[in-house]
Amino acid sequence: MDTLQAYQVLGLYPGASDAQLKAAWRRLVAAWHPDRNAADDAGSRMQGINKAYQHLRQLRQDEGETEDDADDDAKAAPATPSSAEATATAGGGPAGAAGPTYVRKVRLSLEDAVRGCTRTLRGHFTQACDSCAAQGQRVLAQACSACRGSGAVSTPALFGWLWNQSACPDCGSDGRQRATCDACDGSGERAVPYRRQVRFPAGVRAGDVLSLPSSRHGSMKVGLDLQVEIEPHPFFMLDDDGVLRCDMPVNGYAWMAGRWVEVPTPDGLQQMRLNREALVYRLRGQGFPAVPRGPRGDYLVRVTPVFPNHDDPAQEALLDQLIARANQSAEGGAGPLGQWTQRMGAWTAGQQAAASDA
Ligand SMILES: [Zn+2]
Ligand SMILES: [Zn+2]
Repeated sequence: MDTLQAYQVLGLYPGASDAQLKAAWRRLVAAWHPDRNAADDAGSRMQGINKAYQHLRQLRQDEGETEDDADDDAKAAPATPSSAEATATAGGGPAGAAGPTYVRKVRLSLEDAVRGCTRTLRGHFTQACDSCAAQGQRVLAQACSACRGSGAVSTPALFGWLWNQSACPDCGSDGRQRATCDACDGSGERAVPYRRQVRFPAGVRAGDVLSLPSSRHGSMKVGLDLQVEIEPHPFFMLDDDGVLRCDMPVNGYAWMAGRWVEVPTPDGLQQMRLNREALVYRLRGQGFPAVPRGPRGDYLVRVTPVFPNHDDPAQEALLDQLIARANQSAEGGAGPLGQWTQRMGAWTAGQQAAASDA
């Protein structure tokens, strides 16, 4: 087959890219495959199309211009990064070829991300309609009613003196009658539901992408890339190194008294003993994994002791009692308050003696 002729069969110019070549071939095979096209010459057209394609592919391979098939498919793969459900359209490739890869987002809670979790994902892929090879219509054996099979229609031009011949809009100039595909209602595509169970490893982070091995759906193999999002947490903050932080108000008296309080951790509530010397508490190994499946970082709880306002008489009376009690036990003692009281006493006595001397 002559090279120029081969391009003509595929409706391309010699400068067409490999991707255009492949796309044109797919389109024509879809339209002329004898299983789908009832025309008498569909079989011979199909042979011509395949021959032209093989010829040009061989030619390009010899010239070292053809990219790897897998690469080509990967680049052609549609993606829908912004939609929650994968809805991109994918053309059915030649049998056995790797299919498209869909992208969808998955939102996990921080707690699920800490421990890892299993999710069942449901959605649908949109794939080319098998019945009409994504054309939305079937090609029938009878002649196109708009152009009576000629493939061209005449339209009156300036003042009706001249008649222009143009391609028939109904049949696209091949002169064959079309009928809307029932299987897809003319849309050329079909929604194929999927259900995948996915294990997210402990330590998965926002922005991570999990690529699932491709699986067969309908007539195509589909890959699924999952983009992980982590829901904002009401009180946990996550550092890059896996340290998890929480700011927590505590009862100031409980803090002073060194009492136990309940603190939230990714694993649930936990008892923690307050210490009036400390505002930050480190809970080792209770944070977030620094790397997926790795050991967990630390969990830092920063407490803010909160004391009530001085507007509760009962509470003020209790505080006075506490103060009196503390003064009492400090008197004559060896602690800083007791020592201070003694030093103050000695000093005051010295001052008074000096005053009476003068
Ligand atoms: Zn027509
Ligand atoms: Zn269809």
